[in-house]
Amino acid sequence: MSRLIIVSNRVSVPDNQGAAAAGGLAVALQAALAERGGVWMGWSGKSSGDIEPEPLVLTEDGNITYALTDLTQTDVEEYYQGFANRVLWPICHYRLDLAEYGRKEMASYFRVNRFFAHRLAPLVEPDDIIWVHDYHLIPLAAELRQMGFKNRIGFFLHIPWPPADVLFTMPVHEEIMRGLSSYDLLGFQTKYDLENFAGCLKREGMGVENSPGHFSAHGHNFRGGAYSIGIETAAFAAFARKAAAHSMVRKARQSVEGRDLIIGVDRLDYSKGITQRIDAFERFITNNPAHHRRVTYLQITPKSRSEVPEYEAMQHAVAEQAGRVNGAIGTVDWVPIRYINRSISRPVLAGLYRLAKVGLVTPLRDGMNLVAKEYVAAQDPDDPGVLVLSRFAGAARELKGALLVNPYDVDGTANALARGINMPLEERRERWRGMMDHLLENDVSRWCDTFLTDLRAE
Ligand code: UDP
Repeated sequence: MSRLIIVSNRVSVPDNQGAAAAGGLAVALQAALAERGGVWMGWSGKSSGDIEPEPLVLTEDGNITYALTDLTQTDVEEYYQGFANRVLWPICHYRLDLAEYGRKEMASYFRVNRFFAHRLAPLVEPDDIIWVHDYHLIPLAAELRQMGFKNRIGFFLHIPWPPADVLFTMPVHEEIMRGLSSYDLLGFQTKYDLENFAGCLKREGMGVENSPGHFSAHGHNFRGGAYSIGIETAAFAAFARKAAAHSMVRKARQSVEGRDLIIGVDRLDYSKGITQRIDAFERFITNNPAHHRRVTYLQITPKSRSEVPEYEAMQHAVAEQAGRVNGAIGTVDWVPIRYINRSISRPVLAGLYRLAKVGLVTPLRDGMNLVAKEYVAAQDPDDPGVLVLSRFAGAARELKGALLVNPYDVDGTANALARGINMPLEERRERWRGMMDHLLENDVSRWCDTFLTDLRAE
């Protein structure tokens, strides 16, 4: 079997606790690498200041080689914080109002991709299959092709792909589309993302779709498909079963005793709809006086990308809003919203999901949303909770047993919350069973195998 090379912005190198500590994606990719032998290359997360980064640092672990490079401070600021996080992220999440275009940042994005290609090149053998992940590295295949590499190269986009009218507000959209057209297989989270991509290609005659999922553009034939990413369902359900013994989960259970728990878990990001969700919770309490003092809403929100101004501003906005709502509806013996602004380990999260009667997952736009899937996997089959899920999360295409909401509609979300809290056991079980069966069958290993099988196929 040919070797696999994975390239992503950040690499999940197992620490001394082993791979089990990592998230589902890292575990699945490590398993795929271990099966075939291979290389995982990416940025170390460190800056080399203003000097050229040292050669790749290679670490062997069994038949996997981890290959890490530093980036200069300028590259970190322009390629990563600048173009990736302040242009591609907002554009792909339909927030063209938040995109900040700077020539330097755009140039740096393409320059760092060329740098990645040059660092990777000595490690590539003719039979290797290369799998590139996510929006940081769209131009990588084009750079490798220019250097003469004929390997099969696939790309998976973990975030949404926007329609042409949104994408085309980006000055370098043609170069980005050309970059995508250099792969052999493009994987998107849902068929809607794939349709948007096909629409972008066709809009200005950049390419054609010869038959469903088969494209020609910029002199290259390639395929595209929807490959919805899964989680490590069985392992996550096992975490949840064991988590009751964990002291943090025990304390949480004791402290909500007698009240229904609603849980939200999101990185602090404007795409996650956190402020709209807090509004919906407040509306739910106002509209349902019987639930006053009977529910606790736990929102776990680790900080992210604090160096980007929009994220810094959100940090203050959410903390202020949670405080305001607690002040307005709380009582001397009831704090309605518990807001935690740090990261919680996944085994503990699994236990908290299982305690919660409602999982409230309401992004304004999300490629997939793994929290939604984890919430379902963590439930007790005898007494499962209810997932309230945004129709704008990729997961909504699969999790048919969820109560789907439009997160912009505060009343609608408040009503779904009420319905979730009051849902009879039989209905909860039925809705949960269908979703859990789907997640067990479509787990992250299956996602990985399906993509790689399609990438290998001529
Ligand atoms: N997560 C975590 N600790 C936290 C919050 C989140 O480990 O305190 C994990 C969560 O379990 C999930 C991932 O972070 O696996 C978030 O993935 P998702 O697709 O929901 O959102 P993203 O952050 O990738 O946009």
